[in-house]
Amino acid sequence: MKIKIGCHVSIAGGIFNAPKNAAELGCETFQIFTRSPQGGPVPALTDEAVGLFKAGMQQHGFTDFVIHAPYIINFGSGKPQTFHGSISIIRAELERGSLLGAKYVMFHPGSFKDLGPEEGMKQVKAGLQEVLGGYKGTTELLIEISAGAGQVVGDTFEELAELVAVLKKYHGFGGICYDTQHAFASGYDIRTQLAVTDTFKKFEEVIGLEYFRMSHVNDSKVEFASHKDRHEHLGDGHIGVKGFGEFIQHLSQFKTKEENQFMPLILETEHDKVQTDIEILKKLRNKS
Ligand SMILES: [Zn+2]
Repeated sequence: MKIKIGCHVSIAGGIFNAPKNAAELGCETFQIFTRSPQGGPVPALTDEAVGLFKAGMQQHGFTDFVIHAPYIINFGSGKPQTFHGSISIIRAELERGSLLGAKYVMFHPGSFKDLGPEEGMKQVKAGLQEVLGGYKGTTELLIEISAGAGQVVGDTFEELAELVAVLKKYHGFGGICYDTQHAFASGYDIRTQLAVTDTFKKFEEVIGLEYFRMSHVNDSKVEFASHKDRHEHLGDGHIGVKGFGEFIQHLSQFKTKEENQFMPLILETEHDKVQTDIEILKKLRNKS
C-alpha cells in the first residue's frame, strides 16, 4: 500500500494556516486539532474559513489530512455531562471534518475508572453508536489504541475488536489508528521483524487488517509494556529506527482494494526535531 508521511501541525492564527505549516515541515499529509484540545470555545467554520483552508490545501499540493479529536473526551465517564459532551464533540468533529475534507477523525475512547469495565464498555458502545447514528458525512471515525494507564479503554486488541464489532455496520466508521508508542507501552512489540509479524498476526486475528487505517508513528520514552503514554523522537526511544523500518516494510506490503488507497503515517513528536523524524520515515519508506 502507498504510504504518506506527515506530522501534527498547529492551527495557530487560523485553521487555514495548517497546510502552509505542514508544507514547510516537508509533510505529504498532516494532522490538526480543529479546536483547542483541552476544550473551550470552538472556532466557527465559516464559508470563508473553509474556502481559505481549501485554497491552502490546493496551493501546497495536499489532497488529504486527518483530525485529532480533543483530549477531553471520555465515553466511559460517570458524569452524564462528560458522556453527552463526548458524543456531541465527536459528532461535531466528524461534521467539521466533512466540511474541510478530512479523511479521518481519531479519538481516545476514555476510561473505565468511574463505571468499571463492564458498565463502562456498555456506555462506550452506546455513546459511539449515537455518534454515528444518522451521520452522512465523508470523514471516517477511527479509534486510537491507548497506552494502558489506569483503566483506559482500548489498550488491547480485544477491547478494540469489541468496539469494531458494534460499529462496523455504521456509515462513517473506518477502524483503528495504531499509535506505535501506545501499542508498544500496552505490550505490542515492533522492534524486530519477528515482533512485527507477530503483532500484525494478532491484529489480523483479533480485529482484522482491513480496520488498520493509519498509524501515529512515535518512538517511546518508556520501556516495553510499561503502560505509559510518552512519545519520543524516532531512534531516541525504546523502539528504535530498526523497528520502524520493519513496521513500514510490513505496512507497505498491505494489499489495497481500491487503487488510490493509502496509509497516513503521522508523527506526534516535539517540533524541535520533527523534520528529522519526517526524513527518517521517508527514507525507511523509500527503501521498502
Ligand atoms: Zn497518538
